[in-house]
Amino acid sequence: MARIAIGGFQHETNTFSLGPAELEDFVLGGGWPGLQRGQKILENLRGMNLPISGAIEAIVAAGHDLVPLVWTAATPSGRVDQAAFDEILAMLLEDIRNSGPLDGIYLDLHGAMATTSLDDGEGAVLETLREQVGNVPIAASLDLHANVSPKMFAYSDLMVGYRTYPHVDMADTGRRTAELLIRFVEEKRKPFKRYIQGNTLLPLTSQCTLSEPGASLYRQLEQIERENSVTLSLTLGFSLADVYDCGPAILAYGDDDAATIRAADELRKVFNDALPQFDASALDAPEAVKRAIELARGETKPIILADTQDNPGGGGQMDTTGILQALISQGAQDAVVAAVYDPDIAALAHEVGVGAELDLALGGKLAGPGSGSACGKYAVERVSEGNFVGTGPMWGGMAINLGKMALLRIGGVRVIVASRKMQAADQSILTHMGIRPAACRIIALKSSVHFRADFQDIASAILVVASPGAVTARLTDLTYQNLRPDMRLMS
Ligand SMILES: [Zn+2]
Repeated sequence: MARIAIGGFQHETNTFSLGPAELEDFVLGGGWPGLQRGQKILENLRGMNLPISGAIEAIVAAGHDLVPLVWTAATPSGRVDQAAFDEILAMLLEDIRNSGPLDGIYLDLHGAMATTSLDDGEGAVLETLREQVGNVPIAASLDLHANVSPKMFAYSDLMVGYRTYPHVDMADTGRRTAELLIRFVEEKRKPFKRYIQGNTLLPLTSQCTLSEPGASLYRQLEQIERENSVTLSLTLGFSLADVYDCGPAILAYGDDDAATIRAADELRKVFNDALPQFDASALDAPEAVKRAIELARGETKPIILADTQDNPGGGGQMDTTGILQALISQGAQDAVVAAVYDPDIAALAHEVGVGAELDLALGGKLAGPGSGSACGKYAVERVSEGNFVGTGPMWGGMAINLGKMALLRIGGVRVIVASRKMQAADQSILTHMGIRPAACRIIALKSSVHFRADFQDIASAILVVASPGAVTARLTDLTYQNLRPDMRLMS
């Protein structure tokens, strides 16, 4: 029986976003479960669609001993505060020191963490860990949006990325990573490995695997994998990071050196051939709302507006109001916006109660690009404490806490107001406030792509909107200074 340690440290850093991630953001977790240490990991993270949940299952199924370390994830934001990073890394190292002899280590990482003084957070985590554990095999699962650095590759033995965006395969990826780690631990050897960096930055909205070219690309990846008996990953990268190793990467691991190199090269060719098909288009808010109102006249199913540039899942503030203002000014009916972060107004709505009317300046208060507040007379339709359980393919079963919430109405537009940030990618954010999404005409969601997992089937059309916000959809609007010299921007 082998002893396998498990832990995790996830953050996706938008270096263009102002809000930093502090220790408290990791401890509370935001839309994620809070920081878990030791046995709490096994008590609280089982059975979820999280990489570590899948890894736990695989290690238990193989009959090996689990040694839980520390696991934590914060909502994507600006850079991670260095003191917070140091403290979490110190917890990880302390737990490793106290865990006795280990045969393998599995980590649940995102792969695009930057701190206030480091551009390659995971590279530093893996390097420090390697120094401490010597030759013990280290495996990590990664987000599809990982920016994989040479350092991460060098200091780990195995890294496996998600294959879906929306990320419905988070637990599956953790499971596959742990199963491979177990194999190498049992056989007391390490895989051959190959790593290739791509040179094109892709906007988030173009990376969906429910549409082309993503869908075909990952089918071909699996075919190349089967033909060469290797494990392949294609991480498409998190483009909102002005760091040297930003961008896509290919990772291959196998029992045969030549087959590993061949498979990685084949995947590189398939990926490069698909590049011209990535669609980076987005509409401005007034134009998108105009089109949505027109489309809604002839449709029974809702039109969805993806407010990608204020997606808190990509480091957005979740308080911009460009789409909301366009919906109000163009007189949209049966429209809903999910959700605007404004704790003061959520608290005020609780204070005055359902039925009250208030003159409000909603949202638009946080730093960064935006459209100011959406001012007007709002009626309070409903309030909630913001505790509910996810119901969609990504977050089904996960306990969500968005703090005090309120449902406000202005004309034909309803707005969900929250006191914590979370991407609007699960219907429960609407349903727990009494809104039946399928009965709405227009739904504006602060999400780039993840919402598609739960909303695509109920939508008659989806329009990607580039309303001012920190999660820039048009990469050419950004000023990069630290990319590799050969990088080009897809726009
Ligand atoms: Zn991601």
